[in-house]
Amino acid sequence: VNPMDKNTFRRCIRDGDLVIVYERHDNMKPIKVNKESELQNRFGVFKHAEWIGKPFGSKVFSNRGGFVYLLAPTPELWTLVLSHRTQILYLADISLVIMYLEIVPGCLVLESGTGSGSLTTSLARAVAPVGHVYTFDFHEQRATSAREEFELTGLSSLVTVNVRDIQGEGFPSEFCRRADSVFLDLPQPWLAIPSVVNMLKQDGVMCSFSPCIEQVQRTCETLKSKFTDIRTFEILLRAYEIREARMGSGHNNGASGPLPCKRRQLSPGEATKESQESLHPSVMAKPCSEAKGHTGYLTFARLRCN
Ligand code: SAM
Repeated sequence: VNPMDKNTFRRCIRDGDLVIVYERHDNMKPIKVNKESELQNRFGVFKHAEWIGKPFGSKVFSNRGGFVYLLAPTPELWTLVLSHRTQILYLADISLVIMYLEIVPGCLVLESGTGSGSLTTSLARAVAPVGHVYTFDFHEQRATSAREEFELTGLSSLVTVNVRDIQGEGFPSEFCRRADSVFLDLPQPWLAIPSVVNMLKQDGVMCSFSPCIEQVQRTCETLKSKFTDIRTFEILLRAYEIREARMGSGHNNGASGPLPCKRRQLSPGEATKESQESLHPSVMAKPCSEAKGHTGYLTFARLRCN
């Protein structure tokens, strides 16, 4: 059973299932259901046995009347709850990677390094049910932990984790001309590019993630001779403050930020309507001053046809 399969949403929780226990949007944790076990948190004690047979998404109660939600695991939620053994890729980058690498069910994807398996989890879902992700990390313990987690998330039939120095040795020759796409998250990705050239099918696409622009420049220099359509993206996330405020009376209850519409002269009938509307609060959005979100640059390139 693949717990990240979309059919999971339609079934009830069973003993042994992985669930994401949701307290708040910033407080979730993965738990394997065990009918003998309990979850204790600030809301009280929750018996796993009481969760079994309930649909995913259910609200469940503790002995003290506190509650949590039991969510079906998805790659999106996994990225939010996994244990960080390395820096990881987040969803804004992951979704761009999957789209621009043109990953669809049945694809063969090569990845290095595996790191904490955040990207790998989404890659696995994208190639399911018949494709495969071969992921490589030179750090034995990280590879072992990633393998264990793919067992837990039920993705082990879609992902193979290997220990290998990809910058030093390149990808194994058995994948020559078989990869639809290759993803690199390595400190010196340019060292792996000659091997990527040999791995990709004709027209195959690669992507390299690097936190610094100097790494990107060096990667692009190396890509130029064999690749085309070289493009680098930086995704910046911008948070918005959402406030409710009464509009239309010329002041906005102290909320700073733009008014949603321009004020204009109104006819008496409209003015009455507007003053009625002003009794209802409007929702306003204002970008937070500090723009956070740089994780790195994504460079995509397509193997040039000979
Ligand atoms: N993309 C991953 C994720 O979303 O969880 C994170 C990757 S992490 C930042 C980089 C990984 O590359 C580390 O686990 C590191 O051990 C591995 N690595 C570094 N140099 C390597 C090399 N030469 N060959 C293979 N793996 C390497």
